[in-house]
Amino acid sequence: MNLYSLEKILADEPAFRLKQAREAVFSKLIENWDEATNLSAALRGKLNEECPLKIDFKKFISDDGATIKFLITLTDDFKIESVLMRHEERNTVCVSSEVGCPLACAFCATGKMGFKRNLLPGEIIEQVLCSARFLKKEKQKVDSVVFMGMGEPFLNYENVLSAIKILNDKDGFGIGARHISISTAGVVEGIRKLAKESMQVNLAISLHAPNDKLRNEIMPVGKKYSIKKIMSAVGEYLEATDRKVMFEYLMIKNFNDKPEYARELAALLAELPRNLYFVNLILYNPTGGFEPSKKEAVQKFKEILQRAHVSVTERYRFGRGVKGACGQLAGGK
Ligand code: SF4
Repeated sequence: MNLYSLEKILADEPAFRLKQAREAVFSKLIENWDEATNLSAALRGKLNEECPLKIDFKKFISDDGATIKFLITLTDDFKIESVLMRHEERNTVCVSSEVGCPLACAFCATGKMGFKRNLLPGEIIEQVLCSARFLKKEKQKVDSVVFMGMGEPFLNYENVLSAIKILNDKDGFGIGARHISISTAGVVEGIRKLAKESMQVNLAISLHAPNDKLRNEIMPVGKKYSIKKIMSAVGEYLEATDRKVMFEYLMIKNFNDKPEYARELAALLAELPRNLYFVNLILYNPTGGFEPSKKEAVQKFKEILQRAHVSVTERYRFGRGVKGACGQLAGGK
């Protein structure tokens, strides 16, 4: 969907037409301009011609119905994935920000694809629209959006922020900034830029190891952005925003799940204000090469962090049955 063409087509119309059109697409969730009966037939025809609302996608639903993966084919035939996660009390969409990813994390299926291109704001929005249209049929809506799909959001900063403005806009989806999260592999320029934005979106850091030696084995980006640099940018972010940061830590068997690493992680985080961060332990979803940690190892790791007064959560694993879980998105089924 080309959002810029929408503005261009309506440029000569009174300003309220653009508002009406946006409301029809993002709030009423129409799938064809013919449904926007408050617009003239001629304008509807023009919009159908020049700004079609059809999204080319396939969907895959997990056996328990809690996860729906959307495989979207873009106009240049590249494929991207987004995942709708249906918790009891909220619906969260995990979106991609790039086709592929240049950062090549060893545990990630997207990283193995290499980088193809950045996504446009409209291509990010399409992913949320797929879920919103699906949920509309069940009289539900998208409550939160996380940028944790394919790609590194901070390497596509401007387009990601433009998309967030539409998600946040009351004439757009109307999703509160506090319900939108960006996850980064530690691109410090992005962390610093986000600290200066007026929007209060959430920040998550994919840390996955407490020291550079271990981290660089699975995240080559660590050679450019050391943990020291990341922690310093996070410190500045916390000072500027006073908003909680989440550190994500994939639990990989016999790699980063040893008790000594939990102690090292606690010591590393001790330099940050305790009330402004938490650690989210995520059980690794196999994409080849590594295995998930054993339950007991996760428990022990968690206890060590808790004893050091680090607040810690475990993320429930969504989407394994449809290869929609963390690190498994790779533009195909
Ligand atoms: S984990 Fe994220 S940053 Fe790393 S390769 Fe995968 S998509 Fe890129």
